[in-house]
Amino acid sequence: MNAFPGQPPRSPQSGTGARTRTGQDTTARLDLGLDEIASGCVKEVVVDTAAVCGACHGVGGGPGSAMSTPCHECGGEGRVPLRRTLALKIPAGVDDGTRILLSGEGEAGSGGGRAGDLYVEIREKAHPVFRRRGDDLHCTVVVPMTAAVLGTRFALETMDGPAEIDLPPGTHSGRSLVLSQHGIPHLRGPGRGDIVVHVEVPTPTALDAEQEQLVRRLAHLRGEDQPTIRLQPPPAHP
Ligand SMILES: [Zn+2]
Repeated sequence: MNAFPGQPPRSPQSGTGARTRTGQDTTARLDLGLDEIASGCVKEVVVDTAAVCGACHGVGGGPGSAMSTPCHECGGEGRVPLRRTLALKIPAGVDDGTRILLSGEGEAGSGGGRAGDLYVEIREKAHPVFRRRGDDLHCTVVVPMTAAVLGTRFALETMDGPAEIDLPPGTHSGRSLVLSQHGIPHLRGPGRGDIVVHVEVPTPTALDAEQEQLVRRLAHLRGEDQPTIRLQPPPAHP
């Protein structure tokens, strides 16, 4: 029985050198932060692959041995393991899962065969705040009820540094504010996505006696001692 399923049984070769074979395609993974994707970047990719053997120039036979003895460097394979570092230019706006093809940068072929290709797969690292939907970036701000009622202004750290956001007085929970052209640049064509800020306004809890009195007073002044409850369809799901 063959001890290595999927591989043909090895017959003892009499040092005739490697057969000509195309090198294998190689895949490398590149993890990128959203900020790197937003700006584009140059990243170093470390690739474990194989190169043409320098001693026998990929032929597999020993020098001057008329191919009768396997090369002492590569053992007749015609190639040796090699770890390479490639500088790769990443365009702004790449998507998670994008595969960049580097033709002929994979494993060297054996016996003088042609090199395989290298695929670099882009993985987008999770951002602590923003979630990417297409080229838009979504986040949620949790605003105290009093600030939502009175209006406020706050700084949001975007891919381009801090941006001032105006929350108008009377902002409802569930409303969203759009910072247009602050998202991820479109990979093809000009322009970029937006930042969408979802507003969440928690209802105050654990009121002390004075606060409760204030809210009762407010309800009274607004004629809401007996509140009117409206009935309507549910919100549309994003
Ligand atoms: Zn060699």
